Amino acid sequence: MIKIGVLGLQGAVREHVISIEACGAEAIVIKRKEQLDEIDGLILPGGESTTMRKLIDKYDFMRSLKEFAELGKPMFGTCAGLILLAKNIVGYDEPHIGVMDVKVERNSFGRQKESFEADLDIAGVAEDFQAVFIRAPHIVQAGGNVEILAKHKERIVAAREGNILGCSFHPELTDDHRLTGYFINMVKEAKK
Ligand code: GLN
Repeated sequence: MIKIGVLGLQGAVREHVISIEACGAEAIVIKRKEQLDEIDGLILPGGESTTMRKLIDKYDFMRSLKEFAELGKPMFGTCAGLILLAKNIVGYDEPHIGVMDVKVERNSFGRQKESFEADLDIAGVAEDFQAVFIRAPHIVQAGGNVEILAKHKERIVAAREGNILGCSFHPELTDDHRLTGYFINMVKEAKK
């Protein structure tokens, strides 16, 4: 069975586990870097990217996470997880894991819209995906190898670069598991 890890340092971990299991894969909450060897793909959940970064450093995860991406193992960052994956963050000199060729802006949908839902057309996934945005980032710039999967009000909110997938919203908070399923298919393809 395909094994999908969810980085379990902070954020919406349990919801991703439920979504992975609903797609018929095995979910493993990752709390130690050694566990990364056991899994075929990794989800970086939403939460607070600055807090998650502190815990990544505290538990010495950074090098292992970069190696996971270098091995070509699929990673999926949702919301704060997307910020962790981006090579550039507006207003920051350094990225966090920095493995996806995108520039993201944090909390970029404005104060009055801190939380909202939107119907998205996500290429190859669904034409009617109800997406939950919570203090969400968006992708302001994407490199040549990045495939734009979805936009909301002209802003890029889902994209893929090879085996790296990222989205601005929280696909684990509804019972629509199609984006999680799309990621699990990426993992199956990469494992072949
Ligand atoms: N605003 C958060 C951050 O910058 C992300 C919010 C989320 O993951 N829902 O890390």
